[in-house]
Amino acid sequence: MATPENSNGWKRRPSQSDMPLRYEVNRAGPKGHAPAIILSHDVEGAYIHYYRGRSQKCLPENCESCEANIERRWRGYLIVADARTRETSMMEVTAAAMPDIDRYFREHRTLRGALIETRRIPPKANGRLVSKLTESAYDMASYNKAPPLRKLLMKLWGLHDADQENPDVMRKIRLAATDPEAKSA
Ligand SMILES: [Zn+2]
Repeated sequence: MATPENSNGWKRRPSQSDMPLRYEVNRAGPKGHAPAIILSHDVEGAYIHYYRGRSQKCLPENCESCEANIERRWRGYLIVADARTRETSMMEVTAAAMPDIDRYFREHRTLRGALIETRRIPPKANGRLVSKLTESAYDMASYNKAPPLRKLLMKLWGLHDADQENPDVMRKIRLAATDPEAKSA
C-alpha cells in the first residue's frame, strides 16, 4: 500500500510520475530497426497524430489535432533489447508490421523472446514498414521484465492516470492516514 506524501515535503524517493522516461522511442529509419529481442508480452497500440513536431495520442474528446484536421495513424509499441548491445528501447511499429507480429503471437501466445527484424519497402524513410519475427535462442531469464507499456506511453504523451488523479480517492487516502475515524467512513 502506497504511503501518502508527507506534508512537510520530505520524500525519500520521487513519485513514479516524477521519474524520467527511461525508454527512448525507437522509430525505424530507412533501413528499418536494428534486430531486437522483444521483452514485452504483447504490443500496446493507439491512434496518434504527429502534431507540432511530436507524437500525441488521439483523445476521445476535445482532441486538438482532430480539430486541426491532422491525420490520425495507428502505431504499436514494444519494449525491446537490441540484439547486439542489449540496450532497451520502446520500438514503434506501424499497421503494416502487424501481420507477422500477430502470426507469431498466435503461434507462441507471447511475443517475449522473439527476434524482430523490420525493413522498409522501398528502403526509404517513408517506405512501408514490415516485420519478421523468429524464435530466438536467447535465454530470456537474463533479460529484465518489460515495464507496463501503457504507463510509459501515458507519460510520453503527458496523459494522467485518471484513477490516481481522482480527487475523491486522494482525499480518502489522506483522511485515512491522518484521521483514524475516517477509516470507517
Ligand atoms: Zn485526434
